[in-house]
Amino acid sequence: QSPRAPLSRLEPGKFIDYSQLALRIEESREIQRRPLTYAEKILYAYTDELGVVERGKTQLKLRPQRIACQDATAQMAIIQFMSAGLQTTAVPTTVHCDHLIVGRDGQDKDLPNALNTHGEVYNFMSSASSRFGMGFWKPGAGIIHQIVLENYAFPGGIMVGTDSHTPNAGGMGMIAIGVGGADAVDVMAGLPFELTAPRIIGVRLTGQLSGWATPKDVINKLAEILTVKGGTGSIIEFFGPGSETLSATGQATICNMGAETGATTSIFPYSEAMTHYLRATDRHEIAQALGFASHELRADPGAQYDRVIEIDLSSLEPRINGPFTPDLSNPLSKFPDAIEKGSWPQELTAGLIGSCTNSSFEDMTRAASLAQQALDAGLKPQMPLLVSPGSEKTRETLHQDGTLQVFKDLESTLLTNACGPCCGSWDRQDMKKGTPNSIITSYNRNFTGRLDSNPATHIFLASPEIVMAKIFSRDLAFDPTKDTLLTPKGKEFRFQPPTGADLPSKGYATADQVYTAPPSTEQDRSGVEVQIMESSERLQRLSPFSPWSGNDFNNCVILIKAKGKCTTDHITPAGPWFRYRGHLDNISNNTLIGAVNAETHKINTVTNWLTGEDGDVPGTARKYRAESQPWVVIGDYNYGEGSSREHAALQPRHLGCVAIIAKSFARIHETNLKKQGVLALTFTKEEDYDRLVSSDRLSIGGLGGLEPGKPVVIAVDPTDGREGWKTEVTHTMTPEQILYFRSGSALNLMASRKNG
Ligand code: SF4
Repeated sequence: QSPRAPLSRLEPGKFIDYSQLALRIEESREIQRRPLTYAEKILYAYTDELGVVERGKTQLKLRPQRIACQDATAQMAIIQFMSAGLQTTAVPTTVHCDHLIVGRDGQDKDLPNALNTHGEVYNFMSSASSRFGMGFWKPGAGIIHQIVLENYAFPGGIMVGTDSHTPNAGGMGMIAIGVGGADAVDVMAGLPFELTAPRIIGVRLTGQLSGWATPKDVINKLAEILTVKGGTGSIIEFFGPGSETLSATGQATICNMGAETGATTSIFPYSEAMTHYLRATDRHEIAQALGFASHELRADPGAQYDRVIEIDLSSLEPRINGPFTPDLSNPLSKFPDAIEKGSWPQELTAGLIGSCTNSSFEDMTRAASLAQQALDAGLKPQMPLLVSPGSEKTRETLHQDGTLQVFKDLESTLLTNACGPCCGSWDRQDMKKGTPNSIITSYNRNFTGRLDSNPATHIFLASPEIVMAKIFSRDLAFDPTKDTLLTPKGKEFRFQPPTGADLPSKGYATADQVYTAPPSTEQDRSGVEVQIMESSERLQRLSPFSPWSGNDFNNCVILIKAKGKCTTDHITPAGPWFRYRGHLDNISNNTLIGAVNAETHKINTVTNWLTGEDGDVPGTARKYRAESQPWVVIGDYNYGEGSSREHAALQPRHLGCVAIIAKSFARIHETNLKKQGVLALTFTKEEDYDRLVSSDRLSIGGLGGLEPGKPVVIAVDPTDGREGWKTEVTHTMTPEQILYFRSGSALNLMASRKNG
């Protein structure tokens, strides 16, 4: 027996050593001098320079073992990585083609359509994966989180992924954190991933699920308790005897939707179910090796949580969450009252099963058991049923097991193994936009317009079992646990509770044909040409940003003085701009078009202070760049809040921005600006925001002497006859981040270090 096992079946030469992990945990416990929760053990074991940690305060420098990127976010991440001139990603990295595939007619038509529409993007990602040593999961291979669970997740591991539902892997006892592209690029390039030590919310599970109750109901209930904000800055850690009773895939469902509470991630401690899942997915060596650390893969006795929530699985009822927010939760028995009170459309119009949240073998077999009961009684679905399998591996397993045939017998639409409707890529034909209607789904999100872009669609979230049973009645209030349906023969039919298996009895089918491994030697990889057409409007190679010239930024113009909220959506809106995410110059045409001009209260209208003409914001920025005129943005409170979208920092930098000066910054955006070499400066006197006029010229001085904690002096030179004045602004750059600024970007710095 060896404590060492391959990280996965697909990456020869990469190992996890469980003896080493147990040692590292012991060391970090000695440093902290207190019992540790399970999440803390894993986090601290993979942290550089560990000192005493204060949750909510200490900055951790984490060393994830892997990165998974979905196709929508991978494009710019890879393009940035390429610009650094590095040869291979520093940690194992995979790319997953799941978000771009539209769901409409089923896999047979939808997949070829996607290959046609997004061919150049897929070719780029596939060739770049081969060139830089990344594993490539082809279109139709499956949804990122399901593939990670089946191939890469293991107890005691740590990873990041460029998608919010990365925490899905917590079901296998892994710390798995969703990050923005900028953080992913850092990890790819060998930089640590920085994270404020999260608080730990403990969820103690007791009892055991039975009958209709499922893991989905656990998280639906927890979402109600925590609300959509209650997990922010925290890790949700499950423990207690109830956690031993759940399957690994059920635990993944729960961790997946922990994202709906804003949690950094969610995690279950090691249990036998994880070993069973590892073996069923052909990862026997890890299953064996983890015995060397299994005693550490749970919380220490006496470990302290910042808050403890108790959930009794035995008394849990099926729950339905929604509409419009995932934390509005009702038990099935009270749902009819809630429908009446909310005046929600009473007629159910579609059911959707699957996604990364709920497409496990267990989910599908239990849902199919209900479908079979109804089919046997002569009943037919009363509305379209769409099924999104999570992966080709699970789909093939379900095919071999006969479960898929049940879905075919229902005449459901078997979508591609991809996100499809779940990420809004649902070309829904049966409902006119704007028509109020109700749909039920086992997916995880239900914000306005999330699935079918119809703001009037009321999306309800439930277990696959409840979704399956409810599609046999058009009445949204139908309670399959007690109400009856009339069969064609006029008999009363009542569902019996679902049955299924948590794992396929013969293990999962192999479906490695949907994966492309990169060439194994650097020599072979270096011969691969990354495919980007010069004429492409969707993809563009990046040149490294210029290093700082060594001179102060004198006589800068103000591109816009923004008023009120200026989120990443105001800085770089999504919608139709989505397709340009891999083309920095094209997507830069949306830069700051949503920001409100503080002086005119107009959006996307500013004055070009070189010519006196009014114009749109990105166009004016381009004119400044053409004239080599440095420019800045003046921001209000919490500038850059919202998402971690790195484009919001890349685009201003691309168009010649040298500094953003704001009353305050959203933390992630501030970090992203620093990574791209843009100064993020904060007013020391907030009234200076009011004192500045858009036509003023600013000189940012003393840049040669930039030091952590040392203010920066700005000289204001009004052009309207007012007297000039000076003010101090602050920055939060560390010594390392000052080097980012000097090098032109964090990536430039990494590249210069790697290339000597
Ligand atoms: Fe995100 Fe839905 Fe895709 Fe899962 S299936 S990764 S939640 S879009």
